[in-house]
Amino acid sequence: MNIFKEIGPLRAYLDNQRSIGLVPTMGALHQGHISLITRAKKENKVTVCSIYVNPAQFNNASDLEKYPRTLDKDLQMLEEAGCDVVFCPSNEEMYKGTARLHFEVGPAGEILEGEFRPGHFSGVALVVSKLFNIVKPQRAYFGLKDFQQFVIITQLVEELNFDVTLVPVPTLREPDGLAMSSRNVRLRPEERRNASQIYQSLLTMRKQLLEGMPFHEIKAMAQIFLQKHEIRLEYVALAYRQPFSILNDQRDVSNSVILLAAFVGEVRLIDNVFVP
Ligand code: AMP
Repeated sequence: MNIFKEIGPLRAYLDNQRSIGLVPTMGALHQGHISLITRAKKENKVTVCSIYVNPAQFNNASDLEKYPRTLDKDLQMLEEAGCDVVFCPSNEEMYKGTARLHFEVGPAGEILEGEFRPGHFSGVALVVSKLFNIVKPQRAYFGLKDFQQFVIITQLVEELNFDVTLVPVPTLREPDGLAMSSRNVRLRPEERRNASQIYQSLLTMRKQLLEGMPFHEIKAMAQIFLQKHEIRLEYVALAYRQPFSILNDQRDVSNSVILLAAFVGEVRLIDNVFVP
């Protein structure tokens, strides 16, 4: 496995490669990330994993500071997974000072995560654009746990004509249903037990929706259920997947998704389920 901290040598190494799969991550890797690596390995000659905690996509200084960083363990996991190349640049290498460009990501990026994390998708769009220009992958792999992010990156690729195929990868979960996330290591034991109720509530909401219960009632019940498990809901919403938009009239819920963000203790987690 080749490890690069600088853009120049990475570019020289990848020059003339015609089958590159890129897996962008912020490190603190878990099996969810590894499932993206495994998929990329199947479909490309060279799999590149980037590990970079991108300050531009954090709207909260303490979240950025507390974001787990476990580079040695990450490198070991990537080696075992058969990853070919790791790109782990410094802030200086990526931004040479501060990030000046900002992206207007449009209506799909202004709701939900965009509303509660102002500037987040601008930072995501910036770093993903940079990674696409640096690595020039033929395929790039993103998890559906961050569904809205996948929507925004799809728009980015369309609008800027990046010559890359995006590959969505299903959410990998712990045995109790909790979506794997780098932030899960910050949960205290009791919080970790409670956190599994997030996925349970999403499954219940989907069932109730398919039975015809109005979404505002479903939402109210979910809020009470989660509160009982000491989980504070930030948002829960029903949206069309394509075009991504909040669904107010639920007569046709096919091709939709229920998304939520919630705090378990101090840790903010997101998850979603597709409907039907
Ligand atoms: P992150 O390091 O959190 O930025 O995640 C890097 C990539 O891994 C993103 O495309 C995420 O959507 C994806 N990812 C994170 N958690 C999971 C998971 N549990 N299952 C599948 N993909 C995931």
